[in-house]
Amino acid sequence: MTNKVALVTGASSGIGEATARELQSLGFTVYGAARRTDRLQKLSADGIRALAMDVTDDVSMQAGIERIIAETGRIDVLVNNAGYGSYGALEDVDIDEGRRQFEVNVFGAIRLAQLALPHMRKQRSGTIVNITSMGGRLHTPLGGWYHGTKFALEALSDCLRLEVAPFGIDVVVVEPGGIATEWGGIAATHLEETSGTGAYKAQADAVAKSLRSEANVNRNSPPSVIADAIGKGVTARRPRTRYAVGFGAKPLI
Ligand code: NDP
Repeated sequence: MTNKVALVTGASSGIGEATARELQSLGFTVYGAARRTDRLQKLSADGIRALAMDVTDDVSMQAGIERIIAETGRIDVLVNNAGYGSYGALEDVDIDEGRRQFEVNVFGAIRLAQLALPHMRKQRSGTIVNITSMGGRLHTPLGGWYHGTKFALEALSDCLRLEVAPFGIDVVVVEPGGIATEWGGIAATHLEETSGTGAYKAQADAVAKSLRSEANVNRNSPPSVIADAIGKGVTARRPRTRYAVGFGAKPLI
């Protein structure tokens, strides 16, 4: 495979970075998108094309897709991976932060699908991979907004799969379990900022400790296990609709 083109969001770290490298190793021309373009430089050095993109900014998403089409004429794979965990008691999280959590984890993914689909339909082929979570099927206290986004993305993905199948386009959901990335520290910081004092402090302390603890990070799987599942999802003739992968995810398969 030499002429296929992939876009991976959230490529500046963790799962997205590993996925960009995995798809490149499979022969794709890979575009890696993120806000922290400085972090994309090491991927550029290895031939992955850097795109400055904020998935809450429609202009940057349109510009990214336009550049890919201008340079390559096609888009075969869209990996919607950008996301973060907005943790805190539902009573405590500012409603604008709740909206932002949905903007990044849900609206950004579906908007990029909207921008890629006309090209995929013209090609009569393509794969959209949406990174949800085992938290897209489970729920925990103080993770309401995050789980809400991942449940929503699961439902949207399942509907989209039915809509685009007649055009030869696949929609694959990848549900990571615990993966050793920056995600846990970012989620713990959100939790401490929202519920670190006040009525939910005791619950927040326990959840933050678990998100941050060395043991938790050590037992987590490396991002490469998710990159590997995505690679399988985009190269299989008939991909599975769901890949549940990583620490703790096996019982969900
Ligand atoms: P990281 O924090 O390492 O990576 C998150 C990526 O998302 C970064 O590259 C970041 O790039 C990008 N991102 C965040 N906000 C935006 C935005 N507004 N616009 C564009 N990019 C954005 O975490 P992971 O690699 O672990 O997370 C990847 C995905 O996997 C997420 O959707 C996460 O919810 C999911 N996941 C992770 C699990 C885990 O245990 N780690 C478990 C289950 C699911 P930048 O800041 O440069 O823009």
